[in-house]
Amino acid sequence: MAEQIAAAIRDPNSGAMPVQVAVYCDDCGRTDARDYLVVETSTKAERFEVARKHLRNEGWQCDAHGDYCPDCVATSWSGEDDQDGDQQ
Ligand SMILES: [Zn+2]
Repeated sequence: MAEQIAAAIRDPNSGAMPVQVAVYCDDCGRTDARDYLVVETSTKAERFEVARKHLRNEGWQCDAHGDYCPDCVATSWSGEDDQDGDQQ
């Protein structure tokens, strides 16, 4: 019976498998590592995008600026998306 369950999880037709992806907050260093169901042939970048997509729904901000956890989004970002003007 256990073998049947294992066979169902490793469905060769779907090509999906659970992989742990860790996303780090660029501000406080908090790590969110979880198992995501990804296509076996997916690249590392694609797996990160799966994780980021999921975390965005939980309040993370993941974009070109970096990855920020909900706590840091609340304190550092006020919804404004100004460019980092490095004016001297
Ligand atoms: Zn943070």
